[in-house]
Amino acid sequence: MSGADASTLTYDGLSGLNRPKLITEVPGPEAMARIERDAKVTSPSLPRAYPFVPRRGAGSMVEDVDGNIFLDLNAGIAVTSTGHCHPKVVEAVQRQAAELLHYSASDFYLPIYSDVCERLDALAPFGGKPARSFLANSGTEAVEAALKLARFATGRQYLIGMYQSFHGRTMGSVTLTASKAKYRTNFGPMLPGVYHSFFGDFDYIEGVLFKRIVSPTEVAAIVVESWLGEGGYVLPPDGWFTYLRELCDKHGILLICDEVQCGVGRSGTMWAIEQEGIAPDIITAGKGIASGLPLGAMIARDDLMTWDLGAHGSTYGGSPVSCAAALATLDVIEEEGLMDNASKVGDIFLTGIRDIAERHPIITDIRGRALWIGLGFADHDQAAAVELASFRRGLLMLGCGDDSIRISPPLVFREDQAGVALEIFEEAVAEVESAGS
Ligand code: PLP
Repeated sequence: MSGADASTLTYDGLSGLNRPKLITEVPGPEAMARIERDAKVTSPSLPRAYPFVPRRGAGSMVEDVDGNIFLDLNAGIAVTSTGHCHPKVVEAVQRQAAELLHYSASDFYLPIYSDVCERLDALAPFGGKPARSFLANSGTEAVEAALKLARFATGRQYLIGMYQSFHGRTMGSVTLTASKAKYRTNFGPMLPGVYHSFFGDFDYIEGVLFKRIVSPTEVAAIVVESWLGEGGYVLPPDGWFTYLRELCDKHGILLICDEVQCGVGRSGTMWAIEQEGIAPDIITAGKGIASGLPLGAMIARDDLMTWDLGAHGSTYGGSPVSCAAALATLDVIEEEGLMDNASKVGDIFLTGIRDIAERHPIITDIRGRALWIGLGFADHDQAAAVELASFRRGLLMLGCGDDSIRISPPLVFREDQAGVALEIFEEAVAEVESAGS
């Protein structure tokens, strides 16, 4: 198939494919020219994983600027939950864009903003207790809103986060982020009053922090990813959230679950925390909530939303177009059974990868559930080599943690596509294994 032919595929034609089609070496000539231009004008801080230059996408397939077609296990970093350019999302965005592009919901009453809040409040995993939502433009802004509300509602200043966690790059969020020192290097001082414990640890908060560093009576919130994302796609140990919930209840501390990456269906349930059997006080969402349009949400128990008029707001947060995308996304997730699909296709991946790991012991660890899977290797270089070998075969994967690769495809990923992805992944693993032996 020529590049031009690939480009003329309709949405259905492109999304119906299950196998990458590479017509050039990757990166191809157009991609290389674009990367050269990009290198002269963009911030060198952007952490590009490999030379992929997308032009358009449909479902779980993405075409690059040379007409190469890739199978996408990244979903644009766990964002395109309904797949690339789902027709119902595109239609909702186009309709809203033609009707009203902007009116700030902070200063005026935007109906579609409250439509989204109504929807999220009804979905909030607070054990039936009423909720309210604040909409932002990104995950990090949702986390900032949660931190500010926690301090306001409790009148306390201290916060506890977890090592390995990622909450974003604005100053409050990056202070809680403790997955890689480079995210903080040369940006200090960080936000005062933030301490860290260990994801999955049952002793350190009480045994060290509360005993030696900070009184629990002064702690506003424990902030934790329900399932650890950038830090390696790690599930919490059994009972850990029950322990955290009890600890918080004992000391009047709020439990904030950051579900910017694992939320909105990726876990096989709307929220990953539903599978841990407890209710948080505040939850943050982003990424998959609007299929690629910028939207973050901070959803809190109604009785915590005590802050004063004007205490928090945003010019663009909850823009009408992002809100239209969010409503369509939630409809598609529910109507097309995408949470069940995530569980079903996730099982296929887990079974397939366990088989592959038997044949290729360089895969040292397999963890996860639904379309949230982390694969461990000996070290970062080996994981990066598998990521690159997959890319060269037309399979898009992304690293996480110190030595891992994640599988976080669109929630529309199909069984036939999983079969092909496993086949290509095994070839990539075999190549790296034989290069190292
Ligand atoms: N929280 C979590 C758990 C994340 O994974 C991320 C981004 O990866 C963020 C917050 C920050 O989101 P954003 O990049 O939209 O600011």
